[in-house]
Amino acid sequence: MLEIPTIIGLGLGFDGSTNWVNKYVVDPYLLGVPSEDFNPKTHSVHRKFLVIWAFLLVMTYAFYFTFCPLTYYFLFKRKDSKSGNNKANWYQREGKDQVRNEIKTSLWSIAVMTAMTAPFELLVESEKTKIYWDLNQHGGKLYAFVISPILFITFSDTCIYWIHRALHHKMLYKPLHKLHHRYKETTPFSAYAFHPIDGWLQGCPYHIFVFLFPMHHVSYFISLACVGMWTINIHDRVTWNLPFVNGAAHHTVHHTGFNYNYGQYLVFWDKFGGSYKDPFVTAPYNGTPLDKEKRFKTS
Ligand SMILES: [Zn+2]
Ligand SMILES: [Zn+2]
Repeated sequence: MLEIPTIIGLGLGFDGSTNWVNKYVVDPYLLGVPSEDFNPKTHSVHRKFLVIWAFLLVMTYAFYFTFCPLTYYFLFKRKDSKSGNNKANWYQREGKDQVRNEIKTSLWSIAVMTAMTAPFELLVESEKTKIYWDLNQHGGKLYAFVISPILFITFSDTCIYWIHRALHHKMLYKPLHKLHHRYKETTPFSAYAFHPIDGWLQGCPYHIFVFLFPMHHVSYFISLACVGMWTINIHDRVTWNLPFVNGAAHHTVHHTGFNYNYGQYLVFWDKFGGSYKDPFVTAPYNGTPLDKEKRFKTS
């Protein structure tokens, strides 16, 4: 009987999913061990690392090659029926090979980033974090599905703002972050086109969070999937104007104006840190292009 929910993480989170891979794939097909003899306690740390890396790699590639093309064809390339213009304010200024280059960068970046992320998930599996499995703990469903995801986003947004701002410092920008800023006009495929250390650094707050705050394993898995989706969403240039939310318009201005809108989910830290720029009064959404204005300087 295939435990399908475990594979999407809704049944047993990372722990159950990698156990499933070990029991039904690695043991019978790679090692010739019958599934009945499955015993995770005998697995070496090298095996655990390789399985979780392979699991993260396959899941992230599947995620990238599902949601980036869907967003690209159904949102990014969508035309306005009256004007015939692209709704994403997209003019293919960056050349025809942009998407191909972004996919190439993302392929190796995801491979390295998932290897660097695997140790965090090994600690989750060995119960070194505050991830819990019993829904009745820590105030039940209210904490698991409302309070802890809000804390998760608030904590991550705070950390990412400052990490991202540090990555724009002249010492770090060229070696680590410049690769992500290669194109001013982003596409959904830009979402994972990072130097792996850059992407890993910006992903660390999600993993550090579960060492500091209790989080139900299903909320953790769903929250990670949502932040992965959000990263694609802020690069597709199709936006809503929602109060307090750092959307695609804000991140478009980050790529065109460079020193504005470092936030990932909310605009709070940009407003507090003096780096906020309202994207709806500037090009491509409205008004003059940012390169015609005096820029805000951080370093
Ligand atoms: Zn940046
Ligand atoms: Zn970006």
